[in-house]
Amino acid sequence: MPSLAWYSHEICYWHDPGMGSGYVPVGPGVEPLRQFAVDPDLRRAEGLVRATGVIESYTQLTPEPATDDELLLVHTPEHIERVEATSALGGGDAGVFAHVNYHSARAARLAVGACVQAADAVLDGRFDRAYCLVRPPGHHAEPDRAMALCLYNNLAVAARTAQRRGARRVLVLDWDVHHGNGIQRAFYDDPDVLYISIHQDGLFPPGSGTVRETGAGAGAGTTLNIPLPAGSGHEAYLAAMRRIVGPAARAFGPELLLVAAGLDASGHDPMGRMMATSRTFHAMTSFLCELAEELTGGKVVFAHEGGYSAWYQPTLVLATASAIAGLPAPDDPFLHSLEHLPGQRVQRHQTRVLEHLAAHHPLLARAAVAS
Ligand SMILES: [Zn+2]
Repeated sequence: MPSLAWYSHEICYWHDPGMGSGYVPVGPGVEPLRQFAVDPDLRRAEGLVRATGVIESYTQLTPEPATDDELLLVHTPEHIERVEATSALGGGDAGVFAHVNYHSARAARLAVGACVQAADAVLDGRFDRAYCLVRPPGHHAEPDRAMALCLYNNLAVAARTAQRRGARRVLVLDWDVHHGNGIQRAFYDDPDVLYISIHQDGLFPPGSGTVRETGAGAGAGTTLNIPLPAGSGHEAYLAAMRRIVGPAARAFGPELLLVAAGLDASGHDPMGRMMATSRTFHAMTSFLCELAEELTGGKVVFAHEGGYSAWYQPTLVLATASAIAGLPAPDDPFLHSLEHLPGQRVQRHQTRVLEHLAAHHPLLARAAVAS
């Protein structure tokens, strides 16, 4: 059996973007309401993983905060200073829709630290697979600014530290429903980090994550966006994994897999219009663990990103954690409300995106010619 690490920290649950409605802070026309995306939901998710006993498959670890030296591998000093200063004041926007409270700066360093230390542990062979239940999320954070709830780019820093300690090629797969503009930007011209994002076409950030964004300079061909149409469900996601992610990963040959395992592509999420279920996340996670066995000797790190359904997110974390542990998909009391809906079957306009990428993306077109 693979050995598993579980990283979480109480302070990550103390980060809170403050009062607002949805994701919009209190202001003209916006009544006070506890924002969703608040972090007690994450504690509930961990509670479910404990209550079901799935946590027993893992060694539980407490991360150390990331150091300046680590953050500076991706972020500018001014950006770090702004996060620290805004948090020290007790609240405010540390970037663009990136509200913080007093605890946020430390929570953000712990979120990065968990991902860095998980990647380290997996590369060292202390563990095969790791899950980081971290907050705040990271994939929108750009080198010089916090954005959309993300303060530091957790997985981008982890990929850079993995490179620094000798990993030659790193694959970052991102299945959060939004496009991970921050990860893409950090590695757009880096030939040694392949960034693959499966996201809802045109959702957020506006205009970001098109099939035409494939990398630049030396990194040409090492960015791969799979923008699925709104309404894509279980079979479309699995088709993307089998037809695009698998072949692209094999063509690239990574030594480490990092996964931005957001849960906001579920059919109950208020921030996306996709149809994924707990079965989808279980199947995608199992697929990636098998891919890691094949390509990296099993080295894979999953990190929490988005996920805004207060009632469904715990079940989705449990499904992901179960798959990492090689356990069957858990009972899902909400599945009946999603799995019968027509969006679960793959449809023509969804496969068209995959066919386009298989034929035209530089990495996949090269692999097709070579085989
Ligand atoms: Zn998201």
